[in-house]
Amino acid sequence: MRIDILTLFPEMCEVVLNESIVGRARKNQLVELYCHNIRDYAFNKHRRVDDAPYGGGKGMVMQAEPIFQCYQAVCNQSNLSQKPYVIYLSPQGNVLTQQKSIAYSQMDHIILLCGHYEGVDERVIEAIVDEEVSIGDYVLTGGELPALVLTDSIVRLCDGVLSDAECFEQESHYHGLLEYPQYTRPEVWQERTVPEILLSGHHANIEKWKLQQSLERTKQKRIDLFEEYIAKNGEK
Ligand code: SAM
Repeated sequence: MRIDILTLFPEMCEVVLNESIVGRARKNQLVELYCHNIRDYAFNKHRRVDDAPYGGGKGMVMQAEPIFQCYQAVCNQSNLSQKPYVIYLSPQGNVLTQQKSIAYSQMDHIILLCGHYEGVDERVIEAIVDEEVSIGDYVLTGGELPALVLTDSIVRLCDGVLSDAECFEQESHYHGLLEYPQYTRPEVWQERTVPEILLSGHHANIEKWKLQQSLERTKQKRIDLFEEYIAKNGEK
């Protein structure tokens, strides 16, 4: 799996991509992650990549050509057997879900385009973008944080990144439910005890308890997800 991030702030992305589980996956070459500075493809001596919007209005718009040149440079760099899947991070896009991240994690090569200011010239979206993805119904300053959120959610699903597929298969949203509550040492903390069943060593009963807890907390916290799950899987 290869992900290329096209951005005006590559250093901001590098800091995050070099940390923790994603950083380790990168170091161990389980995934290829690259950041590219769109400004390197500016075509004027001041390295400007934005201009005022046609028709008036506040703010600046990122120009199409530097983005297109940056995209082409990535395509020329990699030995492409097919066009990379290009995602523009945008508050106007499809909202990211775990199911989407699972689908992206099975792709070979994704390019993430980060907008800034008022966004990017619509024509470059028409020319190169396959999908617009939002991380929620609110507006951020730039696409870098959304691109990092998306990258993290994809990378942790790639082969060998977590110790076992069970690590993510049991987590919230993978099968449509929220995860059961978790506990660790000590057994008693501020007079609060760990549920006895978890100390019983009875594997089958523990699994039953976990599913029951998942169902209960999904019903309590996210009735929308619960109803969807029951419609698909029936009452448990
Ligand atoms: N003018 C745009 C609009 O109203 O749709 C918003 C532009 S926003 C200030 C600048 C950039 O941040 C966008 O081009 C996009 O790349 C990114 N962005 C902001 N909010 C986002 C979100 N919720 N999800 C994904 N990307 C977002």
